[in-house]
Parts: sequence; C-alpha cells; structure tokens
Amino acid sequence: MTALPPERRVSGPAARRALTAATTTPRFEGRIVPKTFVRKAAQFLARDGIVLYDNPDAFLICAFKHGNAPCEPEPGATAPRQYACQHCCGNTVRTDTHAHQARQRADEIDQLAAASPEKIAKCLRGKAK
Ligand code: SF4
Repeated sequence: MTALPPERRVSGPAARRALTAATTTPRFEGRIVPKTFVRKAAQFLARDGIVLYDNPDAFLICAFKHGNAPCEPEPGATAPRQYACQHCCGNTVRTDTHAHQARQRADEIDQLAAASPEKIAKCLRGKAK
C-alpha cells in the first residue's frame, strides 16, 4: 500500500464534512453561462457547511458553516471573513502540507520572540500558538 502525498491527507474538526462535500459536489466541466447563472451561483454558495474556501494565509481550508464561525460573518453571509480567521474554529480542515507550513511559521515566530524585548516576545508567542 502506498501512502498518500501530504497534500491529500486531511485532518481537523471539519475534515469529514469537507471530504463529503468534495466527493459529492458535481465537477465543473465548462459550459455556456446562461442568464440564470448568478442566481444558481448564489444558491451554490449558500450550501451552508459544504462549500470549501481556501485560506492559505491561515494554512487551512475553511468548510464554512455560518453557525460555527468565530470570525463573525454578517448575518446571512455565505462566505467566511477569512482575514479574521480563528485557529480554534470547528470549520477548519488542514492538509498535512498546511500543518507543516503552520508549524514552520510558528517556529519562525518563536525565533523572533527569542530575540525580542519581553513584551513583544509575549505577544509573538501568543501568535505562535
Ligand atoms: S474562523 Fe476561519 S475556518 Fe472558521 S469560519 Fe472563519 S474563516 Fe472559516
């Protein structure tokens, strides 16, 4: 048996939901855009809990479910506020590659903290968690 490459292995609280969504969503194979496209696209994105958003800045994929989102999206929003992403969120999914990148970033921040004055170091260590 061959091991899956790191970008194919996923973990996190929403991993099962993300895998289900990824395997049941129809593949886009190209088509002419009809007049109903905007309405259908809005319906597609409103499928709460099964639309996946790439969030490379937070080293994760967001399986956005409005009621679980600590990033405080507007009422009725169909997309997360990714710039306010919280690492404690139940919508997170990480590939092994994301987890490795997050660990590297935390190590870099720890190194910065080691060379910083105490107050700044404390703040940096909080970010590295
Ligand atoms: S906190 Fe992050 S993972 Fe959670 S819903 Fe918001 S953007 Fe998605």
